[in-house]
Amino acid sequence: MMVPCLKESCIGLFEVSKLIENKRRGRPEQPCPVCNEWQSIDQLLLNAPAATQPISLDYLQKEFAQVKDRLDEVKGDTGRILSQIDKQFADLIQLYTDEAKEGPRLFSLFPLDGNKFNPQTWVREKFRLVLWCEHSRLPLPAINGMDSKQGVYDLEFDRDWFKRAVPFLKFMTGTLSLVLPVMSSTLKVVNDTAFKTLESQLSLGKNVIDAIAGEGTKLGEVMGAADTTTLERGVGIRAENATLCELHALLKAKDPSFGGLVRVMNKRQEFLWVHEKFAGEY
Ligand SMILES: [Zn+2]
Repeated sequence: MMVPCLKESCIGLFEVSKLIENKRRGRPEQPCPVCNEWQSIDQLLLNAPAATQPISLDYLQKEFAQVKDRLDEVKGDTGRILSQIDKQFADLIQLYTDEAKEGPRLFSLFPLDGNKFNPQTWVREKFRLVLWCEHSRLPLPAINGMDSKQGVYDLEFDRDWFKRAVPFLKFMTGTLSLVLPVMSSTLKVVNDTAFKTLESQLSLGKNVIDAIAGEGTKLGEVMGAADTTTLERGVGIRAENATLCELHALLKAKDPSFGGLVRVMNKRQEFLWVHEKFAGEY
């Protein structure tokens, strides 16, 4: 998985995995192996998803909608889509690995007002934030019992915060809405009613995010033929830091234990926040 040098006439290529590794080590730049010019890792990574992820999140969502009802057949097309979803989740974990040092990065977020909430006109509203376990890839209430309040918080957000957070929120919520049906059907820990509740919460949140993402400049149009996911992710890489930092501060003030999530490290030296039940596996 390579991305081209930013200098137009240069044929140099950078390995995406090494860029991510160096970014994680706090290096903002890396020299080109051919022209030796130092280049911004963030800038280089802007071109990465096109190379590493031939399909966009939107496309994956559309394809997934068609196979969702036969998740148990892990053959042919379904298997291919499931492995793409796996990769999508791994990308999310890898891209936001710096932020995971301070606190969990996976959560669902939806307006408490539910269907009465108007995604077009709101200014400041109460939202429910639900933390997810990054091992089982399920929201904490799906593990602790749907009535459990562990890892469940009611917080107020304003539209401006949401706007800044949109690139990250869109990428994350999109990924979680693919992961949830897969995990709950594989693990069979979530019953049908609980699953429907979780799914409708995710889609409520998605509506709010989509409404905000749709206003202002349409990022995809500015970039012409460029894949919107590519751009959103690139923007996300730079914006996520502030967004997640603010969020971690908010959550820490409410609940320093983050709903009992335990920070562990996987074989790729990435931090994961998992339910204590799974902490022993690391
Ligand atoms: Zn070069």
